[in-house]
Amino acid sequence: MKNGRYENALADIPEYSDEEVSNAVAALLASLCEWPFSTLHNLFTDVLPWYIYYLFCPHSSFHVERAVARWRCSLKEYRMRDLRSADLEVWTLIRQEERRQAEKIRLIPSENYVSHAVMEATGSVFTNKYSEGYPGRRYYEGQQVVDALEELAQARARSLFGVKYVNVQPYSGSPANLAVCFALLDPGDALMGLDLTHGGHLTHGWKVNFSAKYYRSVPYRLNTATGLIDYDALEETARRERPKLIICGATAYPRTIDFARVAAIAREVGAYSLADIAHIAGLIAGGVHPSPAGIVDVITTTTHKSLRGPRGAMIMTDSEEIAKKVDRAIIPGLQGGPHDHTTAAIAVALREASTPEFKAYARQIVANAKAFAEELLSLGYALVSGGTDTHLMVIDLTNKGVSGKAAARALDLGGIETNYNTIPDDPRKANDPSGLRIGTPAVTSRGMREDEMRRIARWMDRIIAHLDDEAVLEKTRLEVAELCRSFPAPGLPGSEV
Ligand code: PLP
Repeated sequence: MKNGRYENALADIPEYSDEEVSNAVAALLASLCEWPFSTLHNLFTDVLPWYIYYLFCPHSSFHVERAVARWRCSLKEYRMRDLRSADLEVWTLIRQEERRQAEKIRLIPSENYVSHAVMEATGSVFTNKYSEGYPGRRYYEGQQVVDALEELAQARARSLFGVKYVNVQPYSGSPANLAVCFALLDPGDALMGLDLTHGGHLTHGWKVNFSAKYYRSVPYRLNTATGLIDYDALEETARRERPKLIICGATAYPRTIDFARVAAIAREVGAYSLADIAHIAGLIAGGVHPSPAGIVDVITTTTHKSLRGPRGAMIMTDSEEIAKKVDRAIIPGLQGGPHDHTTAAIAVALREASTPEFKAYARQIVANAKAFAEELLSLGYALVSGGTDTHLMVIDLTNKGVSGKAAARALDLGGIETNYNTIPDDPRKANDPSGLRIGTPAVTSRGMREDEMRRIARWMDRIIAHLDDEAVLEKTRLEVAELCRSFPAPGLPGSEV
């Protein structure tokens, strides 16, 4: 690298705290036991702490559990020694990103923190395998374990979302939507999706995307007065345009989606209905948003947003005929070998998402979003649709005289990560629009609750009122970092989950 970024990164290698040093020493001692005394190692890390617990602290299992978990984390961190000696540049950048994610309040609604377990599966030996095809019918040998893995991921998805067929191979959300179009439409067929500037996704028919280049895109929009999807206008357009596919689901829509209404309109005009639940999959899995399963023809989702899994996607349906078409669209239509390490991590995430703890997490995401919205409203902010039913909200900054981009930049300097976004019928340009999009999945994963949301909303207000005041930004950044220290982020060094 010649541009000096790496040099800057090296100069900025975070100093180890006392705690990190003692963790590393502890990990070093533990690693001495790894070979050839693996039995001794297990005894040391798994059994001994519990023995001490029973001996000395019969009433404080919580502390011992924390100690054991921390011990394991430090060991994992220490294991990055291989990466450190092989590639100091990448190791440095990873450590910097860890620290950035730990010290910032991350409000981008499509982001989250995955657990150590999901992270481990993502970094597992399945990255070494090729397995084009599907379980039992592959184009490569050596699939004994991968077949079992993919079937496990499929079974967990079927059971969690209540569907009959699932494909876990799409590389991500956009390729999943492409695969559904490739499976069900012919070039030139009409499709309808929510306009991008009103909250829809690129792949739902935005003019520069494949979905508008190869198909005839006829977008529907929000009612700008209410900020809600205008289902009547959607119905009228569908009757007139006779699309072959109607997509519901969004990227920046804060309200519950009426899947039944969209499916009924699609049936009436002879179209397939697709629910893209990328954003709300975790809320659906947790039972806090109605599910489109059994209502629409086909469902796509990413696995890395509120569902808290690795970067990947799934396509689900109850129709055998659609399932066959989708499978053929994925391979040989669009993809080669599936990312088996991602499949492993998807399976782990699906298992996590089926627990009572995840249901509580999903409930808290929505409670946090509502508390956040109420505080912003009380501070004089306008929200598209007036609030939220989900994990996200879109703030209309017009009455504050600030652009979304200027606000997002200042907030980032103050330790709060958001993204600028259009508001419906935005008078400003898309690259410097009037809105900010924020969401609560990541902060809720850290264990933050309503009080913290109100505090963050007030910090945001302070920054937006003093965009160019470096002292205010720095003061807020330090306060943010202090709050973050009390809520360790899952999957990062120092966290138990
Ligand atoms: N669908 C929706 C509703 C999304 O919000 C997104 C991404 O934000 C996608 C699809 C695309 O997912 P990916 O970025 O994984 O391609």
